[in-house]
Amino acid sequence: MVSPAETADALSAHGIPDARFEAQCMIQQLTGQRPEQAPPLTPEQTARLRELVQRRIAGEPLQYLLGEWEFYGMRLFVGEGVLIPRPDTETLVDAVLTWCREDPSPRIIDLCTGSGCIALALKQHLPGAEVRGMDVSETALRYARRNAGYHQLDVNFLCADVTGDIPEGIPPADVIVSNPPYLNAEEMASLQREVRREPALALAGGADGLQFYRSITARWKSMLRPGGLLAYETGETQAAAVSAILRENGFTHINIQQDLARNDRVVLGCRA
Ligand code: GLN
Repeated sequence: MVSPAETADALSAHGIPDARFEAQCMIQQLTGQRPEQAPPLTPEQTARLRELVQRRIAGEPLQYLLGEWEFYGMRLFVGEGVLIPRPDTETLVDAVLTWCREDPSPRIIDLCTGSGCIALALKQHLPGAEVRGMDVSETALRYARRNAGYHQLDVNFLCADVTGDIPEGIPPADVIVSNPPYLNAEEMASLQREVRREPALALAGGADGLQFYRSITARWKSMLRPGGLLAYETGETQAAAVSAILRENGFTHINIQQDLARNDRVVLGCRA
């Protein structure tokens, strides 16, 4: 098993759906070159490839094995202990960037920042913005800070439980954005094998999946300037419930947006 085709066959024989693509990613990771341009693998690379395939077959997500993944055109480091950035979340970044067209230097807070993907993509496209990212997990923050360093982006990452007291010394924001944990208890009990390797802390949103929306909206609205934007990613069946939470908290201009698969994915509201 040394060629891309043999690697793909080995993965495919164990039920990995995108075996060809995954084999190419692994070989590119090992050689630093596209598989069709890569010279034959060295014995060390072959041994390493075998190990990656074994771990993948045993259920590790491809992204953790590679140690990196792309989000919004940016290379981000990921690994055990941090949620892998999803393409769906790019819809949330798009929505915030669209809203910020009138104010290119907003103050932004990203709650439950994880790898920092949202905060970093926003800072990349709004160089004048003041961006803070918060997460309860020090492990996740280590990735976020490493990603900020790699891209030379000045984002302030802070360890904080977003359902607890608001950290002191933070000025009110123009935008609060969050992709909080939002899976309900039933979904948590039937996670895909690979997703089970990701931190439950980043996925579990309480019995009905809405716990973080309730808590963040009620606690953090005072940190938003009047007229400021609250922007959430939601599960595809949660947009109506999250809109209701925003309405109950006095938000206006509530707006639901769809991701590329046309599922409800983003809920926006403005502080009255
Ligand atoms: N979109 C993720 C999933 O379906 C969930 C991420 C989250 O809870 N914020 O696995």
